[in-house]
Amino acid sequence: MDTTFFIVWGVTLGVNGLIMAVFNWMSNNRRFDQYRIRIPKSPQIPPLRKWINVSLNGLFSTVLMIGFFYFFGEKMIYRGFPTVAGFVGETLGVLLLYDFMYYFLHRFMHARLVLKYVHRTHHLIRFPTAPESIYLHPAENFAGLALLLLAMWALGPVSQTSFLIVFFVYSVINVLVHTNFVFPHPAFRLYNFWTTKHDTHHFRMNYNYASIFPFWDQAFGTDK
Ligand SMILES: [Zn+2]
Ligand SMILES: [Zn+2]
Repeated sequence: MDTTFFIVWGVTLGVNGLIMAVFNWMSNNRRFDQYRIRIPKSPQIPPLRKWINVSLNGLFSTVLMIGFFYFFGEKMIYRGFPTVAGFVGETLGVLLLYDFMYYFLHRFMHARLVLKYVHRTHHLIRFPTAPESIYLHPAENFAGLALLLLAMWALGPVSQTSFLIVFFVYSVINVLVHTNFVFPHPAFRLYNFWTTKHDTHHFRMNYNYASIFPFWDQAFGTDK
């Protein structure tokens, strides 16, 4: 990887943080209440506990990624540009495979003991907002990232550009699905689909395990 790669990676983290901050501000601004899917009557978890967990998880995943770049970067990410078809194949292929594997990981996390000791942390959030996208047990944070990198390893090596796009999509969609708004405009159709789908997961628990594509839940009968 070259210097530009690390600069752009830093920018994707910054943009992700900015998106999280804007939606968090909107969640706390009564003007936008009309667009919220559901609003809790009182804070679900103490704010300090929430911010400590979210900050530590942000830090943890950044450290994990730096470790990944250091140990596996040169093997799994190549410099230069692929063809257009190669680029589409790399990005779409990795995201599809990741989401497919994540579907099963997430179902596994709903197994009784795993839910009790790991995934329960995330499900303390009954009414998600953007920062709570990373309100997680560290083991879940690790498993999600490991799965993304595993998908990349299975289909890779991938180009620097493909890696950055996949990483950006992975991070931003995870934030967006937790924002809990629905905006009545056709431009927001995909956004509304994601937020409604994941809100149902937090509300009902046993549906909508995949986070990006609709068809994994449809294929396995867990769509709602
Ligand atoms: Zn969630
Ligand atoms: Zn879950």
